[in-house]
Amino acid sequence: MIDVADLSKSYGPIEALRDVTFHIAAGEIVGLLGPNGAGKTTAIKILTGYLQPDRGTAQVDGLDVLTHTREVQARIGYLPENAPLYPELSVQAYLKMMAELRGIPETEHVARISDAVRATGLADQLARPIGQLSKGFRQRVGLAQAILHQPRLLILDEPTIGLDPTQIVEVRGLIRRLAEHSTILFSTHILSEVEALCDRAIILMNGQVRADARLSELEKTADAVLVLQGKAEGVERALRTLSGVRGIELGRTADGFPSYRILGMGDVDLCPVIYNLARTSNWPVRELRRDVRTLESVFGQLAAA
Ligand code: ATP
Repeated sequence: MIDVADLSKSYGPIEALRDVTFHIAAGEIVGLLGPNGAGKTTAIKILTGYLQPDRGTAQVDGLDVLTHTREVQARIGYLPENAPLYPELSVQAYLKMMAELRGIPETEHVARISDAVRATGLADQLARPIGQLSKGFRQRVGLAQAILHQPRLLILDEPTIGLDPTQIVEVRGLIRRLAEHSTILFSTHILSEVEALCDRAIILMNGQVRADARLSELEKTADAVLVLQGKAEGVERALRTLSGVRGIELGRTADGFPSYRILGMGDVDLCPVIYNLARTSNWPVRELRRDVRTLESVFGQLAAA
């Protein structure tokens, strides 16, 4: 659905994107994650045809954004970072105006608007001026205009920015529902948002893709955790003899059981060999699992690299 290859863009001396390449398949929900100034909005503006890259290509649904801008825009529902909503217009009047701007045939306006209103839970707000709505409801109006033309691809730039926790939960729920019918790319600098919404993250830092992986892959480590029911002889020594083990950290679980973090190397899963060793040695195993790291620590390690 989205193919971006070697995209680069500078603003004068500031290199906002450098050789950015990624692919998003139809039906995916992908988080474009990065700190402030990472280049997320720049990438999104190029993808939606509002900014030209210096180099590289961006395609949506097989169409080049530069040469087929209108066709691409017709396929995308776009929620910009600061959605231009008209505060004096009622929700109804605004959505009607957007339906006209999108070129939706007049005869379909009522159906399309009511579908978008239902999907975003705006039915009770239709007559209210947008300027009087809470931020959460204004964001819903932004999402409603993005889905009016039933796009197969939704691109959302920081959809929950500035919302309170309740509104964030609501908007996330809404995005999850929209994902049932559309491919979604959304940007955020909130790690938990990616964890809550999608199964893949593209991490952008200083204009470059630093990671592009399923969350389960990003969170995986080479380390294993073994918890025993009680003391056993020679556990640490035996664990150290296993190949691929670079160290052991001893500890106790919160409920007092002896625990061993077995530090691995590369991408090897140590659990099968530890399991065999534990079984042949008759250790009283309470728990054995591959250790995971939080997205926060992934982010921190990438930033420090
Ligand atoms: P944020 O999370 O803060 O919105 P972002 O990841 O979306 O950040 P961009 O807005 O794409 O990042 O900005 C990338 C870099 O390009 C930043 O250093 C920013 O200051 C710079 N930049 C963005 N737009 C312009 C512009 N119009 N003129 C000059 N520099 C710009």
